[in-house]
Amino acid sequence: MPSERVAAGVWRVPTSGRARDNAFLVAGDEGLTLVDVGWASAPGVIAAAVAELGRELRDVRRIVLTHAHPDHVQGAAEMRERTGAELAVHEADAPWLPEGRVPRGGRSGTLGAIVDLLPKAHWRPFTADRTLVDGETVDGLAVIHTPGHSPGHIVLRHLATGTLLVGDAVFHHGRTPGQGPGALAADVTTRDASLRRLPLDVTAVGFAHGRPLTGDGVATYRDWLGSKVTRTPGG
Ligand SMILES: [Zn+2]
Ligand SMILES: [Zn+2]
Repeated sequence: MPSERVAAGVWRVPTSGRARDNAFLVAGDEGLTLVDVGWASAPGVIAAAVAELGRELRDVRRIVLTHAHPDHVQGAAEMRERTGAELAVHEADAPWLPEGRVPRGGRSGTLGAIVDLLPKAHWRPFTADRTLVDGETVDGLAVIHTPGHSPGHIVLRHLATGTLLVGDAVFHHGRTPGQGPGALAADVTTRDASLRRLPLDVTAVGFAHGRPLTGDGVATYRDWLGSKVTRTPGG
C-alpha cells in the first residue's frame, strides 16, 4: 500500500498488510519526523515511502515513538541506523526500550502478559536519544501525554494543520473509532481518563491502526470522543 497524504506535510505510511499498522512522516522546519516505526519489516517500507516523497533517508531527522510496544518499536533501532535520526520517546516509556520487551507488569491482563513472552513480541534492545514530556513541541508537533495504554503513551498534534496523530490511544479498525483490548493496556482506568486529554478541535486524525479520518470524516472521531467523555463548557 503506498503512502497517503493526510494533511499538508503529513503522510501516512502503512507498514503492514491490510492497513493494520501505520507510521507517519511529517515535514517540519528541521526536516522529516517519523512518528512510530512498526514491526521489524517496517524500515524497508518506510525507506521506500521517503524515496517516493523525493526525499532521502538522511532527511529523516527525528523518530518519535508514541509508546514502547513491539508493533511500534521493533524496527526502530534499524530505522535510526539507516537515517541517523534522533530517537525520542516519552520519559515514562524510555526504560522499556533497553528491556527488549514490555516488562513484566506492563500489561493489565493475562493475555497481554502472555503475548509479551513470545519472541515475536520482542525487539533488539536500544535506548532513546531524547525523552519527551507533556507540553513540549518537537519540530511543530506538540506532545500530549496520554498514559494508560502504556505509562508513557503520547499523542502528537501537528500545529500547522491541526492533525492529531493518536498512536494507540484510539483505534480505527471498524466503521467507528474505538479503544484497543484492555488486556493489552498497562492500566485501563488511567487509559480511559486520558481520553479527556484528547482535543476535539482537530482537522484530521491519523491512527497507528486503521484508516485516517479527514475532512467531514473527522466528525466520526468528534462524535465518538464526545460520547466517551463529558466536558465542561470550554474544557
Ligand atoms: Zn500499543
Ligand atoms: Zn499498536
